[in-house]
Amino acid sequence: MAKCKRCGLKAVLSEADIEKMVNEVRSMRGIRLAAEEEYMKRLEICRSCEKLEYGSTCSLCGCVMQVRAMLSDGRCPYPRAPKW
Ligand code: SF4
Repeated sequence: MAKCKRCGLKAVLSEADIEKMVNEVRSMRGIRLAAEEEYMKRLEICRSCEKLEYGSTCSLCGCVMQVRAMLSDGRCPYPRAPKW
């Protein structure tokens, strides 16, 4: 099983893994979430980005995009021209 070189977690996440992470973040206190429409727009952009790996990981920051995109102050790390 491929693992992240940085954190040692599985590099390839199942839908269930991702859903669990998303639900954990949603249930955290003090987390400000992006509006649903904005979240869906960000996911769409990430899905067509050449920096997305395994359908879930941004190769620039190592974040699970389904989680990063849901944060209201989340930013795309694409150099010089962030995509969202
Ligand atoms: S570079 Fe930006 S658009 Fe591309 S996968 Fe990472 S967060 Fe998404």
